[in-house]
Amino acid sequence: MDYLPVFLRLEGRTVVVVGGGAVAQRKVTWLLKAAARVTVIAPELHPQLAERAAHSEIHHIGAKFCAAQLGNAVAVVAATGDAGINRAVSASARARNIPVNVVDDADASTFIFPAIIDRAPLLVAVSSAGQAPVLARQVRAQIESLLPERLGALARFLGRLRGGVQRTLAPAARRAFWERVASGSVASRVLAGDEAAARRSFAQELLTSQLTAAPPSDGGARVGEVYLIGAGPGDPDLLTLRALQLLQQADVILYDRLVGEAVLGRARRDAERIFVGKETGERGQQERIHQLLLQLARAGKRVARLKGGDPFVFGRGGEELELLAAHDIPCTIVPGITAALGAAAAAGLPLTHRRLAHCVTFVSGHQGAHADYDWRFFADPRHTVVFYMAVSQLAAILARLRSAGAAAGHPAALIAHATLPQQRIVRGTLADIAARAAHEQLAAPAVLVTGAVAAFDAAALAAALVLPEAAQAALA
Ligand code: SAH
Repeated sequence: MDYLPVFLRLEGRTVVVVGGGAVAQRKVTWLLKAAARVTVIAPELHPQLAERAAHSEIHHIGAKFCAAQLGNAVAVVAATGDAGINRAVSASARARNIPVNVVDDADASTFIFPAIIDRAPLLVAVSSAGQAPVLARQVRAQIESLLPERLGALARFLGRLRGGVQRTLAPAARRAFWERVASGSVASRVLAGDEAAARRSFAQELLTSQLTAAPPSDGGARVGEVYLIGAGPGDPDLLTLRALQLLQQADVILYDRLVGEAVLGRARRDAERIFVGKETGERGQQERIHQLLLQLARAGKRVARLKGGDPFVFGRGGEELELLAAHDIPCTIVPGITAALGAAAAAGLPLTHRRLAHCVTFVSGHQGAHADYDWRFFADPRHTVVFYMAVSQLAAILARLRSAGAAAGHPAALIAHATLPQQRIVRGTLADIAARAAHEQLAAPAVLVTGAVAAFDAAALAAALVLPEAAQAALA
């Protein structure tokens, strides 16, 4: 180990930054976050530094560097962009035993700035000892995506309650208690921004811990919770950060037919996976899912209920939420990218467009032509309609649109397995889309998009645009 990672308390202490450019500016920002008193030595200042100086947030010495300026500094940063000056700063600091950082020069530095993840008071610092700063930043980005934005708020929340717990619980019970709280529904609620609910859960947990002198460390005494997570249309990179975070901490995952291996691969390795997909027509499956949710949550598990797309769009998420609310089981809802949005992006079809469509409707095509919809409204080409579950009822839907007044040439597109490697896109009109789809052997899951936007072709439109004069001249 070339460096020892430590966290410096700089509040009220003087740090000297030599240099006034953009790099110095960034270092100053971090130093001010740590409440240091910053002196910047530079003949000229970056505009943001000049503004800070004008507001007396930093002390500015508008002169060339000389060793005497180091005064009572507890740390020095050399960020001038001139290697000679930087080295001189480094030598002066080291002669006075003041820790010094020279930007992009590990040899001349006695300390380095790590890549920082700031969820204060929780901090993560990543360093490659100056050997590969870009790599350190990539690692930081990867870790950062796993750390909820409100982690700092959670740390503060727990910090505030610490004293009370120390007074209430015997030392032997405390650790198990904090572990339950930091990974259970109290934490989920703080992270979801609901501190009032978190305080109620916390009080409950504390009471349970007091009553059961030594709760089992496997968490058996606690009430579990459910995360109702939208898994998006299929491509795992389209999971939200929160979905990933919760998939990383779930004990059990209940997943549907539409949730593929690629998405499941992003979940915690040792989480139990239970397939609860239902084929159309299989009765009683939803009831079984409900029983399973209750049973697992009551056993203290953190259950990820993972659904394709968004849980609240044709996903029966509402029913599961009702059930959980009725049984007082904490639930966190995480939206997902619904199939219509995934398919539209995949096919390059804007669902609304200033010239083509001002409204969009998501419709379940499951009941096909029998559904009591306003088909005349759907038949207007300025209205985008996305039919889910459309494949089996395709012919009936197309016929119904035609009889409601849509023209034979009314644009239509079918997008199957959107965002997945086996994605298929078929474009056409109400008159020919069924034949085209059959020819391409297009299979569910697919959405049918109807309306003027279904014929949208950005490349053709761009090619049809008149080129600017300069470009025309260049091509001539
Ligand atoms: N909750 C889901 C929808 C579930 S209903 C969501 O928000 O997307 C199932 C229907 O969703 C399928 O019949 C199909 O119409 C659509 N669907 C789901 N994933 C899809 C995908 N990758 N490509 C195209 N359609 C998809």
